[in-house]
Amino acid sequence: MLDIMAEHAVKKCINPDCGKSYGIDNDTYRCTCGSLLDIQYSKKPSRDLIERFYQRRNHGGNIYNESGVWRFRDLINFAGIDTEDFNECARTLVSLDGSEGRLSKPYNMSKAADYADMNHDSFFLQPEGYNPSGSFKDNGMSTAVTHAKMLKVKKIICASTGNTSASAAMYAANEDIQCDVYIPKGEIAPGKLGQAFQFGAQVIQVQGNFDDALATSLKNAKETGGYTVNSVNPFRIEGQKTIVYRVMEQLNWNPPDWIVYPGGALGNTSSCGKALIELYEWGWIKKVPRIAVVNAEGANTLYELYNGMFEGKKLSWNDGRPDLGMVDRYYADLDKRGIRPKTHATAIQIGRPANIVKALRALHFTNGVVVQATDKEMSDGMSIVGLNGFDCEMASGAVPAGVRKLRKEGTIKKDDVVVGILTGRQKDPSLAVEYHMHADNMFARPPTSH
Ligand SMILES: *Cc1c(COP(=O)(O)O)cnc(C)c1O
Ligand SMILES: [Zn+2]
Repeated sequence: MLDIMAEHAVKKCINPDCGKSYGIDNDTYRCTCGSLLDIQYSKKPSRDLIERFYQRRNHGGNIYNESGVWRFRDLINFAGIDTEDFNECARTLVSLDGSEGRLSKPYNMSKAADYADMNHDSFFLQPEGYNPSGSFKDNGMSTAVTHAKMLKVKKIICASTGNTSASAAMYAANEDIQCDVYIPKGEIAPGKLGQAFQFGAQVIQVQGNFDDALATSLKNAKETGGYTVNSVNPFRIEGQKTIVYRVMEQLNWNPPDWIVYPGGALGNTSSCGKALIELYEWGWIKKVPRIAVVNAEGANTLYELYNGMFEGKKLSWNDGRPDLGMVDRYYADLDKRGIRPKTHATAIQIGRPANIVKALRALHFTNGVVVQATDKEMSDGMSIVGLNGFDCEMASGAVPAGVRKLRKEGTIKKDDVVVGILTGRQKDPSLAVEYHMHADNMFARPPTSH
């Protein structure tokens, strides 16, 4: 089994001073040197595949063509699947009946464009909330659980601000494997917690925040033999690359000027960077879009470090040798001052982003920027998306809010082509109700009485 798997892909340390490779017949996600790992493929895919991806949109009942993840299976091919045959795909690939990534693509949203001061026809938002469990997490969970199944694991395990656990629990239920989810007690949206229970996961409540829950879950994964499906798992990152492929396909493989994400644990940022690096290296794209990451002001680790607000020095990729001592000192400083991440956008209430190094690589390669948004700004962003007939949660509202900021500063130009990723659906309706009860909110429409 080891040799077959190693033919197609290896796990490779992202630290250039190490660069150690591992087979993929195990669940190691961290190199012995402490760095995270990347999936690296042995074959360079041909650009002719673009035609095949278009053809698969006429899926002919094959759920692996219907799926917006597995339709691009040739570009995330760690399982070595080289077939159009449904039965062969079904032996290995995990899919919720083809529904992951199926409805998400860039949409024009004119009111959100006005709010962000962008041209109507060059501004797009991609609702990843229209995934089966209601967030972009399903893109990477389908691939991570595929790998878990290849290893024949009995239990997957994660820490979550809510959407990771909903997604993990959904796939686990569908594949009939166990799922343990570690959640920060009282800090996740009720709709997300409800999903974990409903999909039959074992919920473990952790006193503390997400960062504490992740530390506990990673430790318990080792002790109980659970397979970790947080975004430190490189197979998650592979599936999330398809978010970028769907952007590209909808724009006929003409890269936009910008791709915009909210920043939490920075798995999305990392996967966008990896997707773009690979497309560029394969010669599929000539131009590289710039990534903009939007942090919540109350959980702005990347914003502060990347922009030089700590120790007066900008943290950067630095050819794969970022100043990790500085990151440690930043965390120690937060602890010393008793600062805990705090925002109503709980999906990005993360102080210690596990993928920060991969995110720095993505920002370096794409000449990216990092901004921050207040809870009020994110609520406005969330609400204007609603007025276009799409719904998203507050963390996703960071995207239109961030674009508006970058327009004001002049970093983004009005006619730039911008695609923002709306990461998840509204799972805390009380936030929307609360917003509209207050007439002074930018887009509020308070109820009338009769
Ligand atoms: C997980 C999540 C995020 C954060 O994504 P990262 O990849 O961890 O940065 C943002 N928005 C929503 C809705 C999420 O579920
Ligand atoms: Zn290493």
